[in-house]
Amino acid sequence: LSEKTVVFLIASGYSGSTLLTHFLGAHSNILNLGEILEGFKNNPDCKCAYCEKACPVWGSVISNSTLSNHVRSFNFQNTGKFRSIKRLASSGYAVLSPSSKPGFIFNKVFEADQEISVIIDGSKNLKWTKWQMNNSSFKAKFIFLVRDIRALSASRIRKLPENLSDAVSLLVRRLKTFNNFYEKLPEADKILIRYEELVSNPDGIGKRITDFLDLRFENSMLDYSTSRHHILGGSMTIMMKIKEQYGQDSSAYKFAGKEYYKGSGSFFLDERWKTDLGEDDISEIMEMGEQINSKFGYT
Ligand SMILES: [Zn+2]
Repeated sequence: LSEKTVVFLIASGYSGSTLLTHFLGAHSNILNLGEILEGFKNNPDCKCAYCEKACPVWGSVISNSTLSNHVRSFNFQNTGKFRSIKRLASSGYAVLSPSSKPGFIFNKVFEADQEISVIIDGSKNLKWTKWQMNNSSFKAKFIFLVRDIRALSASRIRKLPENLSDAVSLLVRRLKTFNNFYEKLPEADKILIRYEELVSNPDGIGKRITDFLDLRFENSMLDYSTSRHHILGGSMTIMMKIKEQYGQDSSAYKFAGKEYYKGSGSFFLDERWKTDLGEDDISEIMEMGEQINSKFGYT
C-alpha cells in the first residue's frame, strides 16, 4: 500500500471532475470525498448524497459539527483582513480544538479505515488546498484535470447565464492561476490529465494515475457506478436539484443519469462545442485562450 496520501484535484468546472473522482473512488484503497467545501455550502446538514440512512463517512467519522468547525476555521484564517494574525491566533486555539487544524478531516478518515490509503478531495479550491497542505501527517499529491478551453467555454454559456467573452476571460484567468500553482509543485507529486484522454482511454489513464499513487489499477474502476461512494455533493447535486425543480424524481439520477446527461457519468467524449460554436465564437475564444490552451497540449 502507498503511504497515506490526499489527492487535491485542480480543475475548472465542466472538466469532468465528477467523473474522474468517482472513477478513482471506485478503487478499493481510495476514498473520494467529493467537493467537500462546495458540498458543505450546499448541504450544511452534512448528508451523504448516496447513502439513504447511516453513512460510514459523513455524519459519523466526519460529523456535522466537526465539518462545520473545520470549514469555519478555514474561512476565518483565509478570508478578510489580518489573516496572518488570525492564523497565529488559530494555532493556539487548535490545541484545544483539533478540528480547526488543516488536514483534520482527512486524518479522521485515515484513522477510521485502515484500508484507505488515498483520499480524493475534489473541492477544486486553491485557498482550501493550500490551507489543507499545512499538515505533515499525510502526503499531498495533485491531479490537474484540463479540458479544451473551447469545450469549457461552450459548457459555461450552455449552462450559466453568461456571455461568451465573460466566460472566456473568467476561464483564462482561472486556468492561468491553476497553472501557476501547478508549475511550482514538485514533479513527483503532480500529474496532468486531459479530459479527452480520460474518456477515450479510461484504462490507460487509470493505470497512469494509479501508478502515480503507488497503487495497482483495478478493473472495478471502469464500472464505478457499482462501487460505494460517499460525497456531500458536487455537480450531481446540482443536477438532482434541477430535476427536483422540474418536479421530477431525482432518485434515479444518482448514477442513472447516463442517458439524461450525455458525457456526465460515462466515458463518452463530449465534443458538442464543435457544433455548438460558430467560427466567430471559436476565434473569440482562441484570441484570449489560445496561449493557455496550448500549454495543456491543445492545438
Ligand atoms: Zn455515504
